[in-house]
Amino acid sequence: MADTVRLTLAEVDALAMGALTSSNISDENARMIADTVVACERDGCSSHGLFRIPGFCASVLSGRVDGHARATPSRRAPGVLVVDAKGGFSAPAMRRARGPLVEAAREQGVAALTLFNTHHFGALWCDVEPLAEQGLVAMTFVNSTSFVSIFGSRKRIVGTNPLAFACPRPKGPPLVFDMATSASARGEINLAQIHGHKIPEGWAVDPEGRPTTDPATALKGSQLPFGGGHKGSAIALMVEVLAAGLTGGKFSFEAAAEQVKDGGPSNAGQLVIAIAPERVASPGLIERIEGLVERLHDAGIERIPGDRRRANRARIALAGAEVARAVYDKCVALAGDKAPPRRAG
Ligand code: NDP
Repeated sequence: MADTVRLTLAEVDALAMGALTSSNISDENARMIADTVVACERDGCSSHGLFRIPGFCASVLSGRVDGHARATPSRRAPGVLVVDAKGGFSAPAMRRARGPLVEAAREQGVAALTLFNTHHFGALWCDVEPLAEQGLVAMTFVNSTSFVSIFGSRKRIVGTNPLAFACPRPKGPPLVFDMATSASARGEINLAQIHGHKIPEGWAVDPEGRPTTDPATALKGSQLPFGGGHKGSAIALMVEVLAAGLTGGKFSFEAAAEQVKDGGPSNAGQLVIAIAPERVASPGLIERIEGLVERLHDAGIERIPGDRRRANRARIALAGAEVARAVYDKCVALAGDKAPPRRAG
């Protein structure tokens, strides 16, 4: 088991800000990125917390990503917002586009946001949960780098291509699910390697296409689509089309051709669709969702998507986040004298 360090969320924030701003990322962009990193540590999503900071920093220091990019959304049609992220990170671009997207969805009933020339390195729930908190049903699709061989392919072709969905609830927190269309996020394999764990069968194959449970071999080989067969593959392909094809972002195989070697995010695309329920459905749709959730519980389902994160949120806010020491040490080295001092014990 890897050595870990327990950090308060304020320490996570200071460490993230210190590392990002020491790596030629503007204060404003660093603030928006650090917010997502803290949110992930707070919700127990360590594959998209401090673990990602070295990649954010390396991709700017290598000159591949512009840490000062300032994306400005433009309205191409009443319900369509187009965002050129100008070679920057997607977290700040999404944050700047969120207000105009909410406005367009409320006006038009449905609005789409396309984001290209962008580098997504986060968990997708961060992009849709805030929309549901503002009363919108939202979904998003992102492609990445070709790490996944889909059903029937002899080589990596699509990315881990996540999608996420969020729906408001009148009596509870939004219903949110967020998943890679590969059997696991790549970060989960990286973390298994750091912690010295095997990965489950069905996540990956070695470079010769043989099943593996060794994380290092898996990273050299190919990840597999969720479910391992043609259905997960079809969904992964749909995300590739929606996130890259529709937006003008690079396909995952094009992003891979840039030979990403700095451990940072790839240049890809993202689509967000936001729906104002009161404009497209009969009144009471959202109230009916509450009935659906009650039926899920009646059917014996104890955990619905999002429950784990919210349980972690309450616990980690008090207890702090458990961060692999190797990740912590890298962030401290990047933050230099901006790193928060370690408390005794
Ligand atoms: P998981 O398989 O851990 O979870 C997928 C979804 O299923 C979550 O909504 C989760 O809810 C829910 N869930 C998991 N287990 C159960 C269960 N037993 N019962 C009910 N619901 C369950 O996620 P992935 O490994 O696929 O993805 C991890 C993260 O990686 C995501 O945030 C994704 O956006 C991110 N990612 C980002 C990429 C990028 O390029 N930016 C690329 C690929 C992935 P809960 O959250 O409550 O656990």
